[in-house]
Amino acid sequence: MEYKLKRSKRKTISIHINKNKEVTIKAPLYLSMEIIEIFVSNHEKWIKRKLESIDKQRKTIYKLQQEGKTLFEGEEFTLVEGDNRDFGIERDKQKIYLSSDKEIKLLYLQEMKKAVEILIPKWSSYGRANKIFLKAQKTIWGSCTASGDINLNYHLVKAPFKVIEYIYLHELVHLKIKNHSKVFWQEVERLMPDYKQWKNWLKLNGHLLFL
Ligand SMILES: [Zn+2]
Repeated sequence: MEYKLKRSKRKTISIHINKNKEVTIKAPLYLSMEIIEIFVSNHEKWIKRKLESIDKQRKTIYKLQQEGKTLFEGEEFTLVEGDNRDFGIERDKQKIYLSSDKEIKLLYLQEMKKAVEILIPKWSSYGRANKIFLKAQKTIWGSCTASGDINLNYHLVKAPFKVIEYIYLHELVHLKIKNHSKVFWQEVERLMPDYKQWKNWLKLNGHLLFL
């Protein structure tokens, strides 16, 4: 098992694996090599599984790109480009028609707007944001501001509607409870009893939404 060793004034030993599959062991300054080796060999299976899952994610992303596909509402849709047809979605055929690749962003944005327009009235008796901004963000799905605005990542439109709803509710609850305390999660669960399923969907598939 190949790994980089980083020693520092920390008290514990831990494993870090980045997207390039580089394994780093962080260890206290004076911990013996022997103990570090034992720690690594005890975690070898876990490390291998982690590395395999990175490979799997990469392969799926590559496959989608090669085949000209994108995720949309949680399904694989084929992108049809350069056609004379108007830009739009044919849901029953799982096709998205575009005349240029720039249009795909417009389409995501447009469809995300529609989803938000369903969510606002649906949850208005619980609360509503001052303003909602749809943005393309690299690492976060949603956030809220002190002035009561909610930001949503419009790439979420590639996920099932329930996932968008979960993120929307998550931020809506944050307008009242700022932290991720037990009370916060109880409130999310009260509003959306199956939220864990959708939170988990994002955990497993989130990397595919940034294509
Ligand atoms: Zn949160």
